[in-house]
Amino acid sequence: SDSLNGDVKPRILLMGLRRSGKSSIQKVVFHKMSPNETLFLESTNKICREDVSSSSFVSFQIWDFPGQIDFFDPSFDYEMIFIGTGALIFVIDSQDDYVEALSRLHLTVTRAYKVNPDIHFEVFIHKVDGLSDDHKIEKQRDIHKRANDDLADTGLERIHLSFYLTSIYDHSIFEAFSKVVQKLIPQLPTLENLLNIFISNSGIEKAFLFDVVSKIYIATDSSPVDMQTYELCCDMIDVVIDISCIYGLENNEAGLPYDKESMAIIHLNNTTVMYLKEVTKFLAMVCFLRKESFDRKDSRHPVPDAAKQPQNIIEPPPCFTG
Ligand code: GDP
Repeated sequence: SDSLNGDVKPRILLMGLRRSGKSSIQKVVFHKMSPNETLFLESTNKICREDVSSSSFVSFQIWDFPGQIDFFDPSFDYEMIFIGTGALIFVIDSQDDYVEALSRLHLTVTRAYKVNPDIHFEVFIHKVDGLSDDHKIEKQRDIHKRANDDLADTGLERIHLSFYLTSIYDHSIFEAFSKVVQKLIPQLPTLENLLNIFISNSGIEKAFLFDVVSKIYIATDSSPVDMQTYELCCDMIDVVIDISCIYGLENNEAGLPYDKESMAIIHLNNTTVMYLKEVTKFLAMVCFLRKESFDRKDSRHPVPDAAKQPQNIIEPPPCFTG
């Protein structure tokens, strides 16, 4: 469909106080920057930083709140921006005092809701890497309560806020982004269903659809996702892109060394096999299967082989057959 090809991209707005971690999130998730390098990011004075993310399935924009700038500034057409926004991520620095952040969150959410009640409001309680597990839960409970109390005080308890504990030092930021993006994909139930059909008609145990550049997963089958599996997928994508950067041909129109021929098979030492295959210029399918299932099939095409069995009435969609 159009949106899966990237023509209609989910639009995300990243907002929060200065130094809350917005640029770092953008650099780590969409530009492969390593977390430590973000220590040296220059602070900018711009209110609004556009990032078209032409190489990604999602497009997004960053908004700072450097204190004095607010919604009453007439030069700032926030209405236009809110109308086109699917999700508003508000980043709160959990290692800092968050009183001001919470009042900004409240102001932002109520303004945005008036313009566009369909926006998904996502609160990233960020930089939790320094906190113990108990402390994390405590912070989340406190922020959750205060933010919702503020809404209730103004009679706006119908506004729904979702909360995530995030850090750029582990996979939590990718996981949170994945959940945010998944809410913006109208075809999600269809994709999940297709992935369910796909795994039940092949020797594959788990299948993910990934945005290659950001390593956000767009969809997966309905079996549960564990963090380790997700991390393995991320590592595999890194390996494929790194190898393609060195030995591949040229970058595609999305700026990636990634094309229809892109595929990889990795045998893990616990009898699991990972299989990656290009789906669109932005997306890849990453699958897990047992070594036995993999060996049973033609090793170059473990997927289409499943469709050859006569009892299979449902054939995998063409994009999966490579
Ligand atoms: P922005 O002004 O909102 O764009 O904030 P920056 O991205 O410039 O980040 C401000 C500082 O926070 C930088 O020194 C980052 O290294 C640091 N930072 C960002 N994310 C994290 C995180 O998850 N954990 C920790 N410990 N520091 C972070």
